Amino acid sequence: MQSINPYTGRLVASCKNYSEEKTNEIIDLVDAEFQQWKKAPFLKRKELMLRLKKQLLGQKETLASLMVAEMGKVKREALGEIEKCALVCDYYAENAESFLKNETIKTEASESYISFQPLGTVLAVMPWNFPFWQVFRFLAPALMAGNTGLLKHASNVAGCALAIEKLVTDAGFPENVFRTLLISGSEVKTVIENPKVKAVTLTGSMPAGKSVAAIAGSALKKSVLELGGSDPYIICEDADIAGAARLCVTSRLINAGQSCIGAKRFIVMETVYESFRNEFVFRMEAATYGDPNDPNTTIGPLARPDLRDELHQQVTKSVELGAKILCGGFIPEGKAPFYPPTVLENVKPGMPAYHEELFGPVAVLFCVKTMDEALQIANDTVFGLGASIFTSDIESGKMLAEKGLEAGCVFINDFVKSDPRLPFGGIKESGYGRELSLFGIREFVNIKTVVVR
Ligand code: NAP
Repeated sequence: MQSINPYTGRLVASCKNYSEEKTNEIIDLVDAEFQQWKKAPFLKRKELMLRLKKQLLGQKETLASLMVAEMGKVKREALGEIEKCALVCDYYAENAESFLKNETIKTEASESYISFQPLGTVLAVMPWNFPFWQVFRFLAPALMAGNTGLLKHASNVAGCALAIEKLVTDAGFPENVFRTLLISGSEVKTVIENPKVKAVTLTGSMPAGKSVAAIAGSALKKSVLELGGSDPYIICEDADIAGAARLCVTSRLINAGQSCIGAKRFIVMETVYESFRNEFVFRMEAATYGDPNDPNTTIGPLARPDLRDELHQQVTKSVELGAKILCGGFIPEGKAPFYPPTVLENVKPGMPAYHEELFGPVAVLFCVKTMDEALQIANDTVFGLGASIFTSDIESGKMLAEKGLEAGCVFINDFVKSDPRLPFGGIKESGYGRELSLFGIREFVNIKTVVVR
């Protein structure tokens, strides 16, 4: 298992995959720890979670630099990611107890209530794009609920995976409450099938999600899936066009475009199409790509050369089928896998850029005449993660958000972002289940009914 700095091409970390024997040993230890950890009072869990938050903030610089080195995100964003992890630790430290307190239900019985109990050891299969945030938004609620965790991180961020394991023990949590497994995707099956593993959550691509869901399904284990997205942003004619273009470009370029909730398709009313397009293309072209440690860099390299090549293929194939490039669309010179901010128009069904997730700084613009047409294009996708509407008519925006757009979350006059206080997740082939908020912590608990006659 190797992580290679995408900017310098140098080896960052090299680790040996764990043997099946070592993996099973760790699962046994984590399961044994669960028997103790589930009894720890909320006050104790809270104290440790707040110490974990402190560890994160105290080591912010080092942890951010590790992310930059392993997957190329710009340092500014890496620092922000660590701060967000501290926030989710804080949020669940403060709220877990009230989210999981018994709920009385009035029935004919003398007493009836719901009690929320931890499930046991939960496996988290995680992606490289937000190597700390994706893990912490699982870890914080899982541990606060009394579960124990196993992390199978993406192979190119093994250093981050080991750093997270160490952070948890350094914060004072029992040694086997949360362990990393350095294993490949093909070894996940035996872990899910291990009787000591009670549930699995995966954040990643749709094929990985389908495979994990099938394994979990046949083992009758609970699963949560956070998969890809191709978020549509609708720009109405009464929108603040310059402001919308600015926020749309920001969202498209976060993490060099490698975000599940990055804005990917921009559906613009004909009357304002030209002014939106001009502003949008101007801002995309103005973005700089380069050294991720340079504070003036907007986007770093993509995480791996194969990911950049795959993205370029999606663009060139779409262009061969009639799409038009407004900017970008080429492979820059040099060894680092950069891809320039790219804008496509005239994209039609049948093209990769119409149907597939573009996991990099590539935007697709559509010009439409009516809101019905806008909704038809917005929903004409297998994905259903996020969506956004730019309009000054908030009431009609809310109607579209609630009844029109097929998505797990809709933002009005802003780009989609995750927030510990709000549920996060998708519908259709973007997955199922929710992370964050009250709903996230209740995914991996036994919702137990207790009735006293
Ligand atoms: P990926 O290739 O699916 O990998 C994600 C994780 O799954 C990695 O740990 C990977 O391990 C593992 N994996 C891959 N194939 C597997 C299989 N058949 N069985 C079990 N595990 C398997 O995804 P990625 O390229 O790292 O991440 C990008 C994708 O994640 C995008 O589609 C993005 O939209 C999605 N994503 C979704 C969210 C969300 O919240 N909805 C958030 C972030 C990213 P190896 O690295 O060892 O292959």
